[in-house]
Amino acid sequence: MKIKNVTVIGAGTMGNGIAQVFATYGFDVFLCDISAPALERAMKTISANLDRMVKKETITQEVANTALGNITTITDMKAAAHNADLIVEAATENIDIKLDIFRNLDSEAPEHCILASNTSSISITKIAAVTQRPEQVIGMHFMNPVPVMKLVEVIRGYSTSDSVTKAVMEMSQTLGKVPVEVNDYPGFVANRILMPMINEAVYTLFEGIAGVNEIDTVMKLGMAHPMGPLALADFIGLDVCASILQIMHEGLGNPKYAPCPLLINMVTAGKLGRKTGEGFYSYTEGSKELIVSSKFL
Ligand code: NAD
Repeated sequence: MKIKNVTVIGAGTMGNGIAQVFATYGFDVFLCDISAPALERAMKTISANLDRMVKKETITQEVANTALGNITTITDMKAAAHNADLIVEAATENIDIKLDIFRNLDSEAPEHCILASNTSSISITKIAAVTQRPEQVIGMHFMNPVPVMKLVEVIRGYSTSDSVTKAVMEMSQTLGKVPVEVNDYPGFVANRILMPMINEAVYTLFEGIAGVNEIDTVMKLGMAHPMGPLALADFIGLDVCASILQIMHEGLGNPKYAPCPLLINMVTAGKLGRKTGEGFYSYTEGSKELIVSSKFL
């Protein structure tokens, strides 16, 4: 199946990166968000990213101009779906929002169109079940920042067909990514392994075994991780980490996935990491400062 027209639903952190990558590789992209200001911000971000790539000589000015020209922003999701061969949904991580979007996409998109979700934790099988085309619904889990990170976790729902999986694996390679096929169970593979590590780091802090800096330094220097697990949790968002752990806890029924009480406390207090200016570290004027560990105990 030839994919030419791509629609991206949601123009936040992930959606703008996904749109940028498709557009850079020559696809016609509709970038759709319910919020017009979000679309404006997304185009500014994409433009700044492309400028940076031109300065670094990763792409030419001509490629950057063509990429920008390949993206059309739109707030009307129905119109955005009409001509699409592939739709990648990257809207807010909320089950009701996603089910509603997929119901609408299913009724508006052409019959051949593949419906993909970039969800980090919601069941692809559950999303597929609200459509009349469950064999054409699949997970396309890009990593943040999308233009930089090579992996796409391709998630097969219970009903996803072989041909749709093959088309999405090939499409991911066309984008210069490395796709990895996994089955649809809570946390998929990336978060199934990453989130327990982050949770264990939070428990290590909670139990007073070591401070924030010590934990992150052990993992950075000892395991060659580019970022410590607590800094990474701040980057992802502590609310996102807690909610993925909760989904894994409920879905797999194993207490080992229950989020650490300290993580829950911090989310309740609104300390969500970088996006709120404070998590395990404080983020002031673009710099990262350690918060005294006694605060966490
Ligand atoms: P975000 O909050 O930055 O952006 C979400 C966007 O969706 C917002 O602009 C919002 O206006 C828009 N939106 C909400 N409802 C909509 C609707 N009905 N129609 C169209 N647009 C709508 O979120 P994000 O971090 O970009 O995450 C998006 C998805 O990607 C989530 O499913 C998340 O789990 C997944 N994801 C996030 C990351 C990450 O590091 N942020 C990594 C991998 C996957």
